[in-house]
Amino acid sequence: VSGGGWLLDTPATGVYLYPDQCEAVVHGLSRALTALLGGHVKQSLRAPPVIARSVIERVEYDKSFPHLLGTVTTRGIASDLVLLPAGCYCVYPLYADARLSAVDEVSVEATCFRQEATAEAGRLRSFRMREFVRLDNDDGCRSWRDRCLDVVCDWLGELGLATETAVASDPFFGSGNRLMRGLQMDQKLKFEVLTTVAPGLTQAVASGNCHKDQFGKLFSITDATGDAAHTACVAFGYERLVLALTHQHGDDLRRWPEPVRKALSLAAAL
Ligand code: 5GP
Ligand code: ZN
Repeated sequence: VSGGGWLLDTPATGVYLYPDQCEAVVHGLSRALTALLGGHVKQSLRAPPVIARSVIERVEYDKSFPHLLGTVTTRGIASDLVLLPAGCYCVYPLYADARLSAVDEVSVEATCFRQEATAEAGRLRSFRMREFVRLDNDDGCRSWRDRCLDVVCDWLGELGLATETAVASDPFFGSGNRLMRGLQMDQKLKFEVLTTVAPGLTQAVASGNCHKDQFGKLFSITDATGDAAHTACVAFGYERLVLALTHQHGDDLRRWPEPVRKALSLAAAL
C-alpha cells in the first residue's frame, strides 16, 4: 500500500515519513483550522504520543477497543503509559473535579496511534489529529458541533474537496456492541465528513462527536448549575486531508489552484 505520492513508506505498514511539501500543507491546515474554529479557544495544546494508562482505563477505551490500543512496555513489563488513541483524551483530565463557570473550548494537536487491522491508503497506524473540544451543556454542545461541521464542509469546499456528511458510530461510547451502536446512530452523536482520499477510496477526514455527559461524569466535571458537564469534539486527520488534497490537486504544490495555496498560506517558493 502506498501512502500516495507524498507519504513515504517505511518498513512498518501504516507508518509514514512526511517530506517537506507534506509538512507545509499540514502547517497550512493547522493555521487555517485555528482561524476557522479557534476563535473562542481558551487553551491550545500540543500533546505527546503517549498518555497515562489510568486515563485510558477511566474512559474504558481499553475495554471497548483493546485491538486498537497500543501499550508501552519496557523489558516486557507494561508501563504506566499507553499510546494516545485520540487527542481529546488529554483534555478531560485537565478539568477533573472542576466546576465550570462558563463554556470552555480547548484545541489540541496530537500524534495518535491505532493498531488498524487493514492497510489501505489513509488508514494509518500513526497519524496526527487536530481536535477542538467544547465543554458546555447538552444543547450547547450539539449546536456547537453542528455549527462546526457546517463551517468545515464550506471550508473543505473552498479547498476544492467535495464532501459528504454521514452519521456514524464511535469508540467513545462503551463497548462497540450493536445495540449501543444503534442507539448512537439514532441519537446522531457522531457525524463524519467524508471525501475521496485516493482513487475509488472515500474516508472520513473529520468527525464531530457529542459525548453527552459521559466524560463529565467520568472526570467529575460539573457545569455552572452543578450538573455533569457535557462535552463535544470536532476532530481532523491531517494525513487524510493531505491525501485528499493531493488526490484532488496533484503532487506538485506549485500547480495547486491559487485560492487553495492562499487558504493554506503556502509560501511562493513551495
Ligand atoms: P475518530 O476519533 O472520529 O475515529 O477520528 C477522528 C479523525 O482522525 C478522523 O475523522 C480521521 O480524519 C482521523 N483518523 C482516524 N483514524 C485514522 C487512521 O487510521 N488514519 C488516519 N490517517 N487518520 C485517521
Ligand atoms: Zn475527540
